[in-house]
Amino acid sequence: MIEVKNVTKKYGKLLANDSLSFTVRPGEISILAGPNGAGKSTIIKSIAGLLRFQGEILICGKKNKSLEAKRNLGYIPELPALYDMLTIWEHMEFIARAYSLENWKERAENLFRRLELDDKKNKLGSELSKGMQQKISICCGLLPSPKVLLFDEPLVGLDPHAIKELKNMLVEYKQQGTAVLLSTHMLDSVAEFWDSTNIMIKGKIAASRSREEIIGTGEDLEKLFFEITENNKNTKEEVKE
Ligand code: ADP
Repeated sequence: MIEVKNVTKKYGKLLANDSLSFTVRPGEISILAGPNGAGKSTIIKSIAGLLRFQGEILICGKKNKSLEAKRNLGYIPELPALYDMLTIWEHMEFIARAYSLENWKERAENLFRRLELDDKKNKLGSELSKGMQQKISICCGLLPSPKVLLFDEPLVGLDPHAIKELKNMLVEYKQQGTAVLLSTHMLDSVAEFWDSTNIMIKGKIAASRSREEIIGTGEDLEKLFFEITENNKNTKEEVKE
């Protein structure tokens, strides 16, 4: 479970997150949407414990920067950051040691098979294409089977097979009770399995919906996104006039 309570993040004078509050429950896939610069990566990095912020973030009831919270957290960043001098199998070993995982090899093999990496095990991180690096980054985040998963734009740069597999994996994690927070612009790709969404504009949550709330309204995630973002533009223009 992720609990974000009144989180504010400033970069100098720029207010990137303005008193954000939301929750992602076990077994829920929550989509963070919004135009570029809305503050999505900032809140994801804050939840991952990478930024200082005002407010409180709890992961499975523990403060997000505590060791207990970090054990339960998987973070797949927008830009993969691999170790140039480790092979991709060594990345798995590294994560397994960091999280004190047991019986992880079969899981790693399975992830590699599903993301079509099994013939690349001995390649160095620096020898891989951007898309392959993204796949390794996903494997690193998923290997510990965390209770909370944070994905920042995970679908960008992946090939269609990997997109399909990742979507299947997300549904599997959801069924196992993982809380998933995912930022994306590819709203049609998550249309089948999202449970809740927060649409951000200029550091604030401009709209929140659950799937149940929009069933039967003729709305879908994409329509909702345009409705909220276009409305916001109109309001701004009216204010200017
Ligand atoms: P999104 O992920 O929705 O595109 P970000 O969270 O990356 O938005 O950025 C929110 C705002 O914060 C933007 O105006 C961006 O320029 C600014 N920003 C992001 N990272 C930094 C940083 N390290 N230093 C200064 N400003 C930043």
